[in-house]
Amino acid sequence: MRASDIKIEEIVKRDPKSGFPLFGAHRVMLSGINSLRRFGDDLNLALGYEKMRVILTRLGYENGLTTAMAIGEMYEFDTPLEWFKSVQQLLIMAGIVNPEFTTLNFDHDKKWLEFIILGHESFEAANYSANNPDRNPNPICNLLVGFLSGFASAVLGGDVLVRETGCMVQGKDICTFEGKSIAVDEADFITWQKQLTLEPLDEEITRLKAELESSREDLSRRDSEIRKLRKKVHSSETNHGIIHRSKSMSNVLDLALKVADTDVSVLIQGESGTGKELIARFIHKRSSRKEDPFLAINCAAMPDTLLESELFGHVKGAFTGAENDKKGLLIAAGKGTFFLDEVGEMPMDIQVKILRVLQEKEVRPLGGTKTQPVHARIIAATNRDLKTLIKSGNFREDLYYRLSVFPLTIEPLRRRREDILILARHFLAANRMEHPGFEPRTVRFLEKYSWPGNVRELQNCIEYASVMAGSKTIEPDHLPPAVIQESPSLFSSLSGDVPSLVEIEVRYIKWVLEQVKGNKNEASRILGIGAATLWRHLKKHPG
Ligand SMILES: [Zn+2]
Repeated sequence: MRASDIKIEEIVKRDPKSGFPLFGAHRVMLSGINSLRRFGDDLNLALGYEKMRVILTRLGYENGLTTAMAIGEMYEFDTPLEWFKSVQQLLIMAGIVNPEFTTLNFDHDKKWLEFIILGHESFEAANYSANNPDRNPNPICNLLVGFLSGFASAVLGGDVLVRETGCMVQGKDICTFEGKSIAVDEADFITWQKQLTLEPLDEEITRLKAELESSREDLSRRDSEIRKLRKKVHSSETNHGIIHRSKSMSNVLDLALKVADTDVSVLIQGESGTGKELIARFIHKRSSRKEDPFLAINCAAMPDTLLESELFGHVKGAFTGAENDKKGLLIAAGKGTFFLDEVGEMPMDIQVKILRVLQEKEVRPLGGTKTQPVHARIIAATNRDLKTLIKSGNFREDLYYRLSVFPLTIEPLRRRREDILILARHFLAANRMEHPGFEPRTVRFLEKYSWPGNVRELQNCIEYASVMAGSKTIEPDHLPPAVIQESPSLFSSLSGDVPSLVEIEVRYIKWVLEQVKGNKNEASRILGIGAATLWRHLKKHPG
């Protein structure tokens, strides 16, 4: 019996009893191609592409295997090769594909088989194309791959791996299937297993759950690392809300922390705009007084009589216009903190009264006879040199020693330049959340400027610049003129012209001479040239 002797009409019959179709002795079922399309689509939808591919391949494999066994039961083929070749007619009969062998090498004894089959009008490719106008990057004739693998494996008595190396859904003219026995090839065996091994869903879910759990643990570990790092960055750059990077500011804050929860008098010294009140508030917030008020008064900002009544309060009729009793701020501060800013500007007569408050812990309102206890802690600040004021008779020495038990000195911004950029960025972020930031040249200007108004001036400068720049990166032109003009940059004055090297030399020598007020010895020392050379130079370029 040869494969070409098979007659379809002879092998597909009707069961005389039940009327069902039979393939040899086996009952078969007719199924429309459309219903298989639905089957594939549903598998894809419910289980995903990979699972659908495996299930269809397994279905094909089972089909191929049983078909091969059935035909093998029906006929005694001349050779195993003829048996295998019968697959051609059977595939057509089954309505799966019209196959055409281009290569077929078979050695049954050595369990060796290889073939290439061209599949005309694969039902799977046709099904796919009916649904999808677009090409698919991958071959999709899975049932057919399985069928060929199952059929060949049954005939050979060993595993045969089949691959679809090209498919019509990829835009090829025809589907191509390559098969070979895998008795020796380990890698092929793994591929074959992958094609046909279906992992039970519950096992897969358990495995995925475990993977998810371990990813979660990983994630939470990373989360806590990020939190730690953030904390580190935060504490190094803001140190409890006060932005700085300089050692000198760190020292001030360390000292402030130490003194915070004591009742020791603190005197904060520093130029205007360095943030003295910020430090006072910092101390207040870290003291046990933090739940009580923080009240402040600026001694330079109000007339003497008003300052007195604000500090100590008054009784009704104490002076013209005193229509009601008024509680002084020292009392109103309760058990909190009272901040006495610009204490160097305080008139002498009020200085006496403040000294008494510090000594006796009590206050008598203007026009009053009864004293009231003062519980607030007093923190004073000044931008003046109080010792000089003492010498000139404008500040009481005894008050100075009372106030400055624990002195804190905030350096001006120009002496802690490493704070400038992070402060600038902080102010910019406070003004505009999503701002691209500063151009490098702008940073150079900011870091070189002397900042006589300190942090407050820097804050104003950044507000000005952010208005000027809008949503653009801040360029030097956006900075206030004062910041640019002061720049000591050698070339900043050259932006308009481009002088020659000789010209630069002449200008530079003149500039140095100006700096040293015409002292030629000093100038030649700075320039690193001999006095005679400088003299020759000046003779050559007079004026
Ligand atoms: Zn195909």
